[in-house]
Order: sequence, then structure tokens, then C-alpha cells
Amino acid sequence: MRKAECLFCKIAGHDIPSDIVFEDDALIAFKDIHPKAPVHLLIIPKDHVMASVADMADDQQLLLGSLLHRAKILAEEQGIADMGYRLVFNVRKHGGQEVDHVHLHLLGGQPLGHMV
Ligand code: 5GP
Ligand code: ZN
Repeated sequence: MRKAECLFCKIAGHDIPSDIVFEDDALIAFKDIHPKAPVHLLIIPKDHVMASVADMADDQQLLLGSLLHRAKILAEEQGIADMGYRLVFNVRKHGGQEVDHVHLHLLGGQPLGHMV
């Protein structure tokens, strides 16, 4: 299900253009418009299944796992798997989340420093 006012639903529905690097029936991955690293992709479920990880239902574990699985494959395709990368879910206000459609950041291509 898509949410009319949601930016990432619009991207998933191709209503707003984005630089798409992967798409299947369930997921879409595209380049972040303000990249924080040489490789910065966003991996999202096409449907508006949850706003954030904090809203995950008990039967949505595999769905979130599929985002991680796709990130692993995309990292290999982008040539950053050997050197390593960072996967980030920002969650709600204190987590710095700006778009309330669950998404996984894939960052790499340079040393990313130590945040945690
Ligand atoms: P958040 O802060 O919610 O975890 O991440 C949202 C991300 O979406 C940000 O990194 C931001 O740069 C990216 N973003 C915001 N608007 C757009 C857009 O219209 N297109 C793309 N490709 N990325 C966007
Ligand atoms: Zn949405």
C-alpha cells in the first residue's frame, strides 16, 4: 500500500524521479540525493509497510531482513564489499530520521570514521 503524501512512496511508484540501482516486486534501491559517502544508497520496501524500525510488527522480521540481504548484494555490485561499508537505520526523532517510510542506508567507498 502506498501513502499519498509520502516521498519514498512517490519514488517507489516512479512518480518522483530517482537514480534507481535495483528494483523488484518488493524492494527498490536508489541513490541518496545528498550522498554522505561516495556510495550512498537507500533501500526501501516499495509498500509503506512501516514508518520506522520502531513500528515493526512481529511478522515483519523477514521483510527487514530482505533489506539487509539486498544491501549485502548491492555492496558487492558497487565494489565496496571488500573494504567494508556501513548500514544505518535512523529511527524517529533522536535517531535523525527525516522520511517516515522505513529505509536502510548503505554507505561506503571511503573510511567512514567511528561513530559507535
Ligand atoms: P533519514 O534521515 O530519514 O534516515 O534519511 C532520508 C534520506 O533521504 C536523506 O539521506 C536524504 O538525503 C534523502 N532524500 C531526501 N529527499 C530525497 C529525494 O527526493 N530523493 C532522494 N534520492 N533522496 C532523498
Ligand atoms: Zn511511504
